Amino acid sequence: MRVNPPHTFSALSYQLLPFRFERINDDLFLLVNEVGENCYLNFEDLNDLIDGRLVTSGKVFQKLESKSFIYSENNNFSLRAFSAKYKARKSFLFDGPALHIFVLTLKCENSCEYCQVTRRSPDTVTYDMPLSIAKQAVLRMFESPAKNLTVEFQGGEPLLAFETLRYIVELCIELNETQQKNLQFVVATSLQNIDMEMLNFFHIHNIHISTSVDGPKWLHQLNRPNSCSNSYEKTICGLEMARSVLENDRIAGMTTITRSSLSEPKAIIDEYVRLGFHSIFLRPLNMYGFAVKKENKVGYSSDEFNKFYEQALKYIIKVNQQGYRLDEVNAVLALNNILTPRATGYVDMRSPCGDGTGVLVYNYDGKVYPSDESRMLVEMGDKSLALGSVNDPYQELISSSVLNTILQAGIAEALPGCSDCAYLPYCGANPIQNYSRYGDMIGHRAFSAFCAKQKFLYRYIFKLLDDKSHRAVFNSWLPHSICQTTEEALTNG
Ligand code: SF4
Repeated sequence: MRVNPPHTFSALSYQLLPFRFERINDDLFLLVNEVGENCYLNFEDLNDLIDGRLVTSGKVFQKLESKSFIYSENNNFSLRAFSAKYKARKSFLFDGPALHIFVLTLKCENSCEYCQVTRRSPDTVTYDMPLSIAKQAVLRMFESPAKNLTVEFQGGEPLLAFETLRYIVELCIELNETQQKNLQFVVATSLQNIDMEMLNFFHIHNIHISTSVDGPKWLHQLNRPNSCSNSYEKTICGLEMARSVLENDRIAGMTTITRSSLSEPKAIIDEYVRLGFHSIFLRPLNMYGFAVKKENKVGYSSDEFNKFYEQALKYIIKVNQQGYRLDEVNAVLALNNILTPRATGYVDMRSPCGDGTGVLVYNYDGKVYPSDESRMLVEMGDKSLALGSVNDPYQELISSSVLNTILQAGIAEALPGCSDCAYLPYCGANPIQNYSRYGDMIGHRAFSAFCAKQKFLYRYIFKLLDDKSHRAVFNSWLPHSICQTTEEALTNG
């Protein structure tokens, strides 16, 4: 982003507020400002805007002023509105880590092609989290200033350590009698080991489930094999049992896209509809853990993923238009960023990055990490990203030199490539992903799979938003209260 120095504009009737832009075609530009508001301008209007020649009584001026692209000396309200919007967009900065991931065990019965942790055989106890570590981790979590705390259980397969899970939930509830936080529990599980005792416990404590269904049986079992060749049946059986006890909206599905998935967007989505899901997360591969060893077998290029995603989203919109509500998580996050004043809070799409500031991970062995990806690097032999141990006070963990280094590379506004990018207000810095893939935390946007995915996603969503026939579907994916604002924003374009 390059803006002329203030004195250049001092004699003019208005001043520019920070924005970036991207050329859409010969005569059309998309402008996105620092607070995430956006509009299209033609070449002439863009030049007039930058040269200070806009007529203050004209429609273009008024649109840009109402969207915080410009302000005039005699309208101090615009500047105050900009400040308030900026504060809302970066509101996550005031909270501290809200997501706390407990890695209860590395044990798992599956041997997924893309596994990002080095799973261990179910008959070993060496890789389980002891209760003493679980207790210390819970105490650290409650030291976070965040009012809303999400406790996420991961593995391996966390249900293979159900007694530890139960201990942590009960301890959290007991401590929360005095702490008074808003607690939310989520278990990331294959559902293959679920039973009624666990489900009743989940029901009583309002625990949510996130499970992996990779598509139709043949694809799921190809991606997620287990020793009995029945991982699909076991997951579907667990899903049915879970739905007999928990409400549908407490069970979310996600699908990891492997090379074998690329040709099957329709089959994957049809399977989600058949299974009664109303949300799907089309998650690209993360090249950590076992997935790195199998990259040649399961990996693909960013272009291949984006082509798949384009086809899949087109089909999901069609399914919605035919009367079945199914949203896609990447698109929902992007729409929320584009159409609403608040950031999603999603840790990968924050600047400053969410590593450590938005999430803490308590590993089974008592080490604390700033993200799920950094503890996965440990399983590949790199322990350099540990912030400390669960026995260290929260203040020490959060001010550790490791987190300091990560945050220095975690401000997207200061990263080469990102600093000029129109989509920056919707995006985030990903220092740990850069480090794991390219050996340094700054990275290079031209080679970044994350950047390629983000740029494609936002360009595609903006293109879809141009077509009014998509708006009813997109509105139905956003919380009801903001749909009307959204429609107005789109209409006023
Ligand atoms: S990662 Fe890519 S899409 Fe995101 S802000 Fe940086 S350059 Fe833009």
